[in-house]
Amino acid sequence: MAAFAAWLSENGLVIIGMLIAAVAVRGVIKFDVNQWQNDRRKRLEENLRMLCPHHYIMKEGDVFKIATEFVSPFGALAWQCQRCGHISHDELRIDQDRIYWAENPNALLERQEKMKKVAKKLGRL
Ligand SMILES: [Zn+2]
Repeated sequence: MAAFAAWLSENGLVIIGMLIAAVAVRGVIKFDVNQWQNDRRKRLEENLRMLCPHHYIMKEGDVFKIATEFVSPFGALAWQCQRCGHISHDELRIDQDRIYWAENPNALLERQEKMKKVAKKLGRL
């Protein structure tokens, strides 16, 4: 017992130092993981916004149509995509996009598939 007390008085500071270091390292690692998860989430959300075609394929009777996700509240000058939240002031550009997707429906389907994958990673599906 006396030997242990002598050993503790000699090494006590080192042990305390090690414990503090262990706690500190654990704290840093924990923080980094959170940061990494936040960064990853932000990046995926950014991806999702960039991938959003702002349009979807709609079936009307036997005809497939390209419909827009953009809505404009009455009296507002801006248009907002209901899916990704993107705000556009350019009605002409929205029309051009709709024409593009109507000419390339496969590209639209591909884009939606990609979005689905990213949304899955974000746990939204
Ligand atoms: Zn959108």
